[in-house]
Amino acid sequence: MRVLLVGGGGREHALALGLAGDPAVEALVAAPGNPGIAAVAQLREVTPTDPAAVAALAVEVTADLVVIGPEAPLVAGVADAVRAKGIAVFGPSAEAARLEGSKTFAKDVMTAAGVPTARAYTCEDAAAVARALDEFGAPYVVKDDGLAAGKGVVVTDDRAAAERHAAECGRVVIEEYLSGPEVSLFVVTDGEAAVPLLPAQDFKRVGDGDTGPNTGGMGAYAPLPWAPPNLVDDVMRDVVHPTLAELRRRGTPFAGLLYVGLAITSSGPRVIEFNARFGDPETQVVLALLETPLGGLLHAAATGTLGAHPPLRWRDGAAVTVVVAADGYPAGPRTGDVITGADRAGIIHAGTRRDADGTLRSAGGRVLCGTATGPDLAAARDAAYALVRDVELAGAHHRTDIAAAAVDGRITIPG
Ligand code: AMP
Repeated sequence: MRVLLVGGGGREHALALGLAGDPAVEALVAAPGNPGIAAVAQLREVTPTDPAAVAALAVEVTADLVVIGPEAPLVAGVADAVRAKGIAVFGPSAEAARLEGSKTFAKDVMTAAGVPTARAYTCEDAAAVARALDEFGAPYVVKDDGLAAGKGVVVTDDRAAAERHAAECGRVVIEEYLSGPEVSLFVVTDGEAAVPLLPAQDFKRVGDGDTGPNTGGMGAYAPLPWAPPNLVDDVMRDVVHPTLAELRRRGTPFAGLLYVGLAITSSGPRVIEFNARFGDPETQVVLALLETPLGGLLHAAATGTLGAHPPLRWRDGAAVTVVVAADGYPAGPRTGDVITGADRAGIIHAGTRRDADGTLRSAGGRVLCGTATGPDLAAARDAAYALVRDVELAGAHHRTDIAAAAVDGRITIPG
């Protein structure tokens, strides 16, 4: 199988490692890729959000499967353009990707499907914003309606800050605050059959103890030792299958990766958000534990044959990833700094570039992450931090508490 992977962040580096490790994948091309991906794939230039350009590249490299990593190309219709060329693609149509592209659309689907989620209002002016904030009270949850790379959400007790964010965004979704530990559940689906991966937890805030602004994600671990044993079954039954059925009913089936972001509240799991692609950095830990060949799994989802795919096999133990971010991230990351100590197994490249002379430099806010597995969470955590300690990058910062509460047994579900 010849595979074209679209994207160039940490998630795509993790996907590239999984695809390259599948004996059925005889050629892997990544566009645009990154210096980490270059070790396992041939890199090609492309604008990932240009449907015609990606489709033409898929034809040129005679891809049997195109895997689309990021959300922006999906929302732009890249999967549709590739499918129109008769090439199998892992990633939903632009219509189905609205599950991520519009929070209002996602709420509408969830309501129609009876999926448990926070009560919410879509607001377009200050008066509607004020009414919604009054009704729900603090902490206030204000979300930009469109794509914002995980950074369009403000959760705050500060009423003025909530109103300011709403005014800056224009159209927002204001919702009830959900209290409880968060879970990211990835589900591979062909639109009908659906296969859950291991649940993971990510860390959205920039600072230790969940302080500071939201980011794209500062670290992750899997599996979740504290998760209720029936969590995945319940979410498949109450969230995933009803949502997939509702999208089929609308004539826009969702095939690809359905990312379910949940809060485990005192009344059970509630959906915080859907995404239409693998999450970053949870992908790094989930795929580190997946033993089943990745190319075959994604190909089955892309060709409507997932129902016949054998059950997934997982490695024992746990995985942890710790993100190293550039100075100034997330507000205004500085790029162009020299990185050393990063050319090692377990280092996943996210925002890096390489000079002609081989020097590695930072090229984004989240620069790289150290990903490690171990016989248990504590061992995986120690190994991930050992990787990060050996990376040198001026002004870089990382959280020191990734997976710490889970290792110490400090995560509880509200009773
Ligand atoms: P989202 O982009 O919707 O995933 O939101 C980013 C982060 O904001 C989530 O991972 C949560 O930590 C937080 N968040 C979003 N919605 C809620 C909510 N209704 N209640 C509590 N926290 C929320």
